[in-house]
Amino acid sequence: MSSKQPALVPPEHLPLRPLWLCRACGQPWPCGRAKLALLTSYQDSRLNLLLYLSGRLHEAIDDLRRLNPSTTGDVRNLFDRFLGWPARHRGRRPSTAEPQTPEET
Ligand SMILES: [Zn+2]
Repeated sequence: MSSKQPALVPPEHLPLRPLWLCRACGQPWPCGRAKLALLTSYQDSRLNLLLYLSGRLHEAIDDLRRLNPSTTGDVRNLFDRFLGWPARHRGRRPSTAEPQTPEET
């Protein structure tokens, strides 16, 4: 069941591990292009997008922690970087499947 994946991020905008910077732009991944590609690929399934991103987030935490064990406090930033933007990006199409999550301040 794992063979048919939608086309995701263009290969040049994949993350350069273990730094998790975009191979093309050098921005912290996911860069703008990667986000656009992900939104397009997962436009009908925000849940799958979040699952995908949380998988990448896990890998990123592992990689970055190994690189620099002193930055474990950055997990919150990483969380926002990987999973915060789709929530802010709730586009024009109203989604019935999306639970109402109150914004934390
Ligand atoms: Zn990029």
